[in-house]
Formats: sequence, C-alpha cells, structure tokens
Amino acid sequence: MAYAYDDQNIFAKILRGEIPNNTVLETEHTLAFADIRPQAPTHVLVIPKGAYVTYDHFAAEASDAEIVDFTRAVAKVVEMTGVGADAGPGARFISNAGEHGVQEVPHFHLHVLGGRMLGRMLDPAE
Ligand code: 5GP
Repeated sequence: MAYAYDDQNIFAKILRGEIPNNTVLETEHTLAFADIRPQAPTHVLVIPKGAYVTYDHFAAEASDAEIVDFTRAVAKVVEMTGVGADAGPGARFISNAGEHGVQEVPHFHLHVLGGRMLGRMLDPAE
C-alpha cells in the first residue's frame, strides 16, 4: 500500500522554512527541533527531511543514507541534551503513527523526551 504524504503538514512547512522552529540539530537528511508544547524538560522532535508519513513508511522506503543519518542524529540529540541512559537518567523515544497511534502531524517524527520521571509507557486505564 502506498503512503500518501500531505505536503501541507506543519513539519513540511517547517522544512521549507515557511514557519520558524527552534532548531537543536540539522544534518544532511535530518532536522531536530524543540516541540512547541513540551511535555517534559527535554522534548525534541527528530524528523527526516524526506517526505515520510510514519516510522514504518520511513523504515520501509528511506535510503540507507537517510536511515543512518537520522539514527545518528538521534544519538547526537541524546548526547546534546544529556538524557542518555548511559551518563544521564534516561529518556523515552516515541513515534505515533496513524489513527490508533493518535498521530497529529503526518510527517514522521521521533519524540525524544526526558528530564523527568515519565511514568508508564501506556496508561492501563485507557
Ligand atoms: P504527534 O501527536 O503527531 O506524535 O506529535 C506532534 C507534535 O508536534 C506535538 O507534540 C506538538 O506539540 C508538536 N507540534 C505541533 N505543531 C508544531 C509546530 O508548529 N512547531 C513545533 N515545534 N512543534 C509542533
């Protein structure tokens, strides 16, 4: 099944420079920036520059160069923010996809969250 990418989504506009962002890191294929409504002291969004809707889309169709660049950018963001579980208290990496994942912005993004105790991954009551 083909993934339909909406190039009017807010992250596409950020990538085109049409709306501002608070950049943490930019590489050849990847942009990392602060979430506008942070849910933890560290809340960075890492996105590929390519037009991918979800993590599964990216994992299936991105080039090796894009995947390596993205993955290394995540490591760099963790190092820059000091939330890594090796030297720091740890973090959470979340990527919501589609309706059941309650994805708000249809451009693949990885949330890097840290700086406070984050609780259980899913609320068992939901
Ligand atoms: P999702 O629910 O799709 O996984 O997460 C989308 C995230 O994008 C949310 O955490 C939301 O706060 C963030 N967001 C939405 N619009 C903007 C924006 O214009 N700028 C930034 N920096 N973050 C945004």
